[in-house]
Amino acid sequence: MTSHPLLETARQSLLDGAHHLGLSLHDTERLLNPARLVEVSLAVSIGGKSRLLQAWRCQHSLKRGPAKGGVRYSPSVSRDEVVGLATIMTLKTALADLPFGGGKGGVKVAVHDLDQDDRLAVAEALAAGLGEVIGPDVDVIGPDVGTGPQDMDAFVSAWQKATGSDSIAAATGKSPERGGIDLRDGATAKGCRESIRMARERLDIGSETGVAIQGFGSVGRELARLLVDDGHTIVAVSDSSGGISSDDGLDLDELIEVKEETGSVVDATGEKVSSVDVLAHGAATIAVPAALQSVVDIDLAERMSAALVVEAANAPLDVGGMRRLAAKGTAVVPDTAANAGGVIGSFLEWRLNVEPGSGEPEIDELTARVQDANRAMWERSEADEVDLRTAASAVALERVL
Ligand code: NAD
Repeated sequence: MTSHPLLETARQSLLDGAHHLGLSLHDTERLLNPARLVEVSLAVSIGGKSRLLQAWRCQHSLKRGPAKGGVRYSPSVSRDEVVGLATIMTLKTALADLPFGGGKGGVKVAVHDLDQDDRLAVAEALAAGLGEVIGPDVDVIGPDVGTGPQDMDAFVSAWQKATGSDSIAAATGKSPERGGIDLRDGATAKGCRESIRMARERLDIGSETGVAIQGFGSVGRELARLLVDDGHTIVAVSDSSGGISSDDGLDLDELIEVKEETGSVVDATGEKVSSVDVLAHGAATIAVPAALQSVVDIDLAERMSAALVVEAANAPLDVGGMRRLAAKGTAVVPDTAANAGGVIGSFLEWRLNVEPGSGEPEIDELTARVQDANRAMWERSEADEVDLRTAASAVALERVL
């Protein structure tokens, strides 16, 4: 086993499925190891200074189609983190039955160091460095932590120049002017709401119950709005500056207003709580980590009392946290099912880009695909009497083998 917590979580999820299926050592090792891992050095000028940035692209599996996964810009990103995230994408795209394999990329750079010109330079260097390793039929990138539509637009333009292709399908998450689709915005939160609705039904949890959300960014904030629409109360929420809670429920409009005005939710009306402790809030029947990876360790898992944990973030549990929640009998909907709406939205954009006559994607298709993925996981879990993560991995691995 490796020492990177995210890679450990990703590999353990895969291994749980492989053991349940009784796969041979040979098949298991083949599944654990990435099909292709590329490391490039990007020579760029940032703030007028010459820099050499480390970057990785992992195509964990190419079995079901082109690799698919975002590119993250972060000063702490590492090769192991990228491999772990790509492993999760292999399981996620297969569980959602998309014609994709799993991919992920990372550039080791602090985004607050980058202005518009610098971002353009990084995208150009990445496109030149990766060249034909990326493409609509090989590997399709997308936004992730630290990247957004402007980076995808810049990447596609640079990639077209580098490869001589006129396709816009080498990246998703683009702006509408460059072939992006409106549906991609909010797709992760919409899918996560669907995942929560299905879990509630299976576990007989009411829609009036309290929810705690860690993270109030594009996923957490939109999900909070959708869950309040469904009748839930948000009893605790946090961002990188801290958290706020109320057993009777926080005022969502106020949270959004305070976040917009001050950059954080911490000054909204309620009791202060640490950004991590929101997930252990006693009034939360449902806990949603929607911010960081590896945040739920064995100690936090021990203190959590929610009946249902829904992984909106990728790999929010480390292996100790996974094991502790499983031992406590907490239902955990894994990231591969809970945030699959994002990659399904990306698939719909890619499909429209490669088949321009296929018509503007509809929300009903996104919802149906999220439901199919979650249903497959629940049915397998009930039939085989295994936890949801094992069931999701088993369904996915059968489709990857
Ligand atoms: P984002 O950057 O918009 O928001 C992240 C939020 O987390 C922010 O509110 C930030 O303040 C908060 N945060 C950061 N550090 C924190 C800390 N220590 N404690 C509490 N909160 C903290 O990101 P996002 O797009 O909302 O993504 C959130 C998570 O969901 C990430 O793990 C991402 O990989 C995952 N995810 C996102 C998508 C997507 O479509 N955006 C798809 C799949 C998975």
